[in-house]
Amino acid sequence: MVADLVVKGGKLVTPEGIIEAGIAIKEGKIVKIAKEPGLPEAERVIKADGKLIMPGVIDAHSHIHDPDYTYREDFESGSKAAAAGGVTLLIDMPLVLTVLSDMIERKKKEGERLSVVDFSFHAGMMMPEYVEEIPKVVSLGVKSFKLFTTQPFKVDWQGVRCIVEAVSRVEGVTVVHAEDDAIISEWVAKVRDEEGRKDVLAHFDSRPSEAEGEAIRRLIHISEETCGHIHIAHMTTTVGTVLVRDAKERGISITAETCPQYLVFTRKDAEKQGPYLKMTPPLRTRDDVISLWKGLADGTIDMVVTDHAPGTKEEKEVGWEDIWKAWGGIPGVETLLPIMLSEGVNKGRITPMKLVEVMCQRPSEVFGLYPRKGALREGSDGDLVILDMKKEVTIRAENLHYKVGWTPYEGMKVVGYPEVTVLRGEVVAEDGRLLGRPGYGKFVPMR
Ligand SMILES: [Zn+2]
Repeated sequence: MVADLVVKGGKLVTPEGIIEAGIAIKEGKIVKIAKEPGLPEAERVIKADGKLIMPGVIDAHSHIHDPDYTYREDFESGSKAAAAGGVTLLIDMPLVLTVLSDMIERKKKEGERLSVVDFSFHAGMMMPEYVEEIPKVVSLGVKSFKLFTTQPFKVDWQGVRCIVEAVSRVEGVTVVHAEDDAIISEWVAKVRDEEGRKDVLAHFDSRPSEAEGEAIRRLIHISEETCGHIHIAHMTTTVGTVLVRDAKERGISITAETCPQYLVFTRKDAEKQGPYLKMTPPLRTRDDVISLWKGLADGTIDMVVTDHAPGTKEEKEVGWEDIWKAWGGIPGVETLLPIMLSEGVNKGRITPMKLVEVMCQRPSEVFGLYPRKGALREGSDGDLVILDMKKEVTIRAENLHYKVGWTPYEGMKVVGYPEVTVLRGEVVAEDGRLLGRPGYGKFVPMR
């Protein structure tokens, strides 16, 4: 056998440990993991020189391509940013347009025309009246359904229960934006309407931690009663982390994610960056940041995702005058892995094994892609990232691939950067140079 690609001389990071072995890929699949001389001949050989090699990163929550908002990002720009940042699979989340069977088919075509990396979809925003469409959505390879417990796509608690039950009948997962609407409405009325505040921190003050805590408390209860799998999107708080940890100990079918922005920034940073750091849920305190890192390290939080949802500079700048008018979202897909390498592994907050668990294995398992994706195993797709753990990079928007031309991490120094990104045996990015081509990315169905 002659393989298409052999990567040798590196250290493979798996959730169980680090093994010194080479890896051979043929026709897109990993065909052999072995020490030399057990590796086959290959068309191309990459010498990894003792560097760490991890599976391609999965960003399980990114708003990459909404047909109405492609001026912010689309499959082509978003997937180029992904490839350069070591992400080989994006799970695209609905942004504004409802994504059910027709839209999934349309977006699948657009993705297969434009995307450099592989992709999958979440359906949504779910409303109780859409539950009849669930089996059809599942037949298209989508088993994840997003809903909101608050505006702008609010479902009431009875509706949430109805959707979770319907999704659990097809063994799917319900992804929930968890903030309690009653609490938020009360605080928005106070901060915006009564006090008339328009400053940057008004957004933060209108969405207290307890809104997340209360929503997660109720969701745990719904999961317990229905046995439906609920996944908490972008968890930000100590209270949420404590509740999820306790629910998991009780065997309840709850999983959770957080994002780099909640692991790096606090509301203090918004005093400087202003509306550029407006996002929902908002940034929290130093204590919350510490809880989230601890939750990642101990397995309470299953994965790190981006919630990549860029707005243009204009859509952000209006927030200096009136924060309520600014777009609430940030770009993040290209800096996801660098931030986690630098702030997580190199600062000793998580091990390389944990990194692979939260960026590859768990996203793949939770969303029905395992073991095809997120694993360095024979038979899995040949997706991997070679890491340079010592490389120092100052993050600059001009070096990133986003359409919007800015990053909240501008000027931040990181140590550790992806060097080579391989997707199904093809090098799609190398030293920041993009080699992948639009149309190479494939839709990957959830099982
Ligand atoms: Zn989102």
